[in-house]
This record gives sequence, C-alpha cells and structure tokens, in this order.
Amino acid sequence: MTRRAIELLLLVALGAVWGWTKGSPAITFAGGLVGALAWSFLDGMRARRVLHWLNKGEAARAPNLGGTWGDLVERCRKVIKKLEKKAQSSDARLEDFLAAIQASPNGVVLLDASGRIEWSNLTAANHLGFDAQGDLGQYVRNMVRNPAFTAYMAGGDFGHEIQIDGPGPRPSQPTKILLQIHPYGKKRKLMITRDVTAVQLAEAMRRDFVANVSHEIRTPLTVLSGFVETMQSIPLEEADRTRYLELMSQQAHRMQTLVSDLLTLSRLEGSPSPGAGEWIDGEELLRHVVSEARGLTQAIAATPHEIEPVEGPGIGVSGAKTELLSAMSNLMSNAVRYTPGGGKIQAGWRMRPDGWGEFFVSDTGPGIAAEHVPRLTERFYRVDRSRSRETGGTGLGLAIVKHVAQRHGGRIDVQSALGEGSTFTMALPPSRVRERVSG
Ligand code: ADP
Repeated sequence: MTRRAIELLLLVALGAVWGWTKGSPAITFAGGLVGALAWSFLDGMRARRVLHWLNKGEAARAPNLGGTWGDLVERCRKVIKKLEKKAQSSDARLEDFLAAIQASPNGVVLLDASGRIEWSNLTAANHLGFDAQGDLGQYVRNMVRNPAFTAYMAGGDFGHEIQIDGPGPRPSQPTKILLQIHPYGKKRKLMITRDVTAVQLAEAMRRDFVANVSHEIRTPLTVLSGFVETMQSIPLEEADRTRYLELMSQQAHRMQTLVSDLLTLSRLEGSPSPGAGEWIDGEELLRHVVSEARGLTQAIAATPHEIEPVEGPGIGVSGAKTELLSAMSNLMSNAVRYTPGGGKIQAGWRMRPDGWGEFFVSDTGPGIAAEHVPRLTERFYRVDRSRSRETGGTGLGLAIVKHVAQRHGGRIDVQSALGEGSTFTMALPPSRVRERVSG
C-alpha cells in the first residue's frame, strides 16, 4: 500500500475514532469525513508545492516530499536536470559560436524580418558606426545613413555587394566598406561587411606605381626613338652622329639604371630579412662608397666636391653586405648630385649612447624644405625633378635606403633645412652594430 493511502486511512480512522468517542454513529461518520477532507487538503498542499516548483523549473530547488509525490518530484527533477544540462551545453556552444563570429575579421549583423538589428559583432559595429550592444533592436536603416545603403535595402536585390563609406579616423578619411546582405530563414537577413580600405589603398599605390614606371620609361624611350628616326631619315655629319649616339647612350643608360633600381626594390620587398650573418667592417664599406663618390664628382661636377670620410670608432655591421653598400652609396650619390660643385660632403659611422649605430652623410647642398621630408622615401617622389633627371636620378634611391634600413631593423632619418645642407642617417639597432671589428 502506498504512503498516501496509509495517510488517508489514518486520518479517516482518526476522525472516525474521534466521532466514535462522542458516542454517535453519525458523528463517527462525520469524523471520518473530516479526516478524509483533512487528508485531501494536505495532499492538495503538496500538489501545489510540486506545481509551484514545476512552474519555476529549477532542479536544485525541488521540494522535499515523501511517498508518491516524492517519487514524482524525483522523476521530474531528473528530467529537468537533463534538460538543464542540455540547455547549458547549447548555451556554451552558442557562446563559442558567437565568440568565433566576434573574432572574425568580417563584420556580421543579424537582422530580423523588419530590418532591426538582432545581433552584431564588434567588427560590423565599427565598420558601420553603431553600438553593438546599445543599438540592438534598432532599425539598421536608421543606423547606417548612407544613400547607397538605403537604396540597396529598399531595392531588395541582394545578389551583389555594395561599397559605402564607413567612419574613418577623420571625416575627410572615411573607410571603404564592402557590404552584402544574404537573406535566410523567414525574411531574416545576414549582413556581412568587409573593410577594404587597405586593399584599395594598395591597389591605388600599385596603379600609381605602374603609371610612374611607364612614365619614367616612356620619356627616355621617346627621346631614343626620336634620335633613331632622325638617324634613319637624315644623313648626318660625323660630329652630329657622334653627339646623337652619345645622347642615345645616355637615355639607354637612364633606362638601365631605372630597371636596375626597380629590380633592387623588388628583390628587397620580396625576400626575407637578412639574417645576422657575419660581421662586416663598416670602415671598409665607407672607403668603398667614398671612392665611388669621388669618381662621381669627377664625372659630373665642374668643380669637384670635397668628400671627407669621418673617422669612426671602428664599427662592425651584421647584415647583407650588398644591401648595405647599395644604401650607403645611394646616400653618397645623392649628396654629390644635389650639392653644387665644390661643396663639402662628410660621411662616416658613429655609435649613439643608446647602442644604435649610424651611417651618416652630411652635405652643404641646398637643403630640403620641411614639407618634403616625410615624403622623400616614397617611390618616385622628387623635390627637384629636373636636377634629379639631369644627374641620372630614378626617384627610387631613398626608397631603397629605407627598405634596406628596415630589413636590418633600422630606419632612415633626415635632418635638413632650406639653404643649410642636409644630413641623411641610416640608423641600425644594437643587434646589428658593434664597436671594433673582430672577424
Ligand atoms: P633621386 O633618384 O631623384 O635622387 P631619391 O629617392 O634618391 O631619388 O631622392 C628623392 C629626392 O630627395 C630627390 O629627388 C631630391 O629632390 C631629394 N634629395 C635626396 N638627397 C638629397 C640631398 N642630399 N640634398 C637635397 N635633396 C636631396
């Protein structure tokens, strides 16, 4: 017999005994009835507790009951516990899933059927300029105020992506955001955004570069083919012929230098940074570029420059010898080419108190106005275009120096003021330089 039945019988019997003590069968019956009512009240109370608990649905707060109710509670508790575990694991999976979408470099926004933001990762919020938490539930069309986006949303043709301006570091510098909507489920939408500012910048730089190279090559090529045509169509005196051939050779040489600089740059950009390698004698490199510069000044200056190597502490440099030579010789050749004949050029190695080592070239040339200095290492950037051309410049020299310095963990510094000459420095970190060569 179950505990509930025993309880019922006990209460009925208790009521009946109480009625029986009163000496009347009717009261005995009524006593039994009262006992039954008391039991059903108690049982109802237990049922209420169970129902109350089931409404809350928390396994840990199960009421402590015995008998049939206890069994029922225990079974329900087990089922609820199972469901709780299942819910917990799906919550954890959802969290993992959302964390993965948060980590995505692409922006992701979920829109409900009426175009309200249901969820967004931080990337999308940054791309589009809203608050990933605070703007949940807002209509996306109110958050992204852009005519192209409004038309895209209204048109309903989501088979293609659109590009809109996102909030940039400055209003004048908006980011370029690619955005596409993918409908799913019941009229819901998944919106994916991608920041293509850097890609577009690189693409624009590539286009500029190709245009610059074409321009640089076209000019000497035009001159060269002009001379060829002239020589083909007009019989020339020997003196003219020699002069024309000399000019043609100059143009061919100019193209050769340009191609050679372009190849150097592309090698520098495409290969891994040079390892520590062996220690190279900095003074030996200096002697080499000084003698080269002396040759250059003899060739191009009416009054040769005074080129003076400055005695240093005896520096060893670790890196790629050809690259270092190419950088140093570019700095030297610039000093010679931009300083009027007779000017003074000093070059050497020195150690800085912070352990960095520097190769410097100072000249007494025209100097460079401050607004040009930050752009000097851009490819093809020239302050004095005609002087650069006249002296065989390609506009790539300082870009090469910058790359070489960076590949060795260093940088290029320029100190200059108009009319006061310039000092170009290639600074290398302590790991790449040391005093006294031993090896
Ligand atoms: P380029 O082949 O034209 O010399 P670089 O990249 O070597 O190209 O130099 C960029 C520009 O920087 C030059 O066109 C020139 O205007 C300026 N420049 C470089 N070195 C000096 C210098 N020592 N004095 C003055 N101007 C310089």
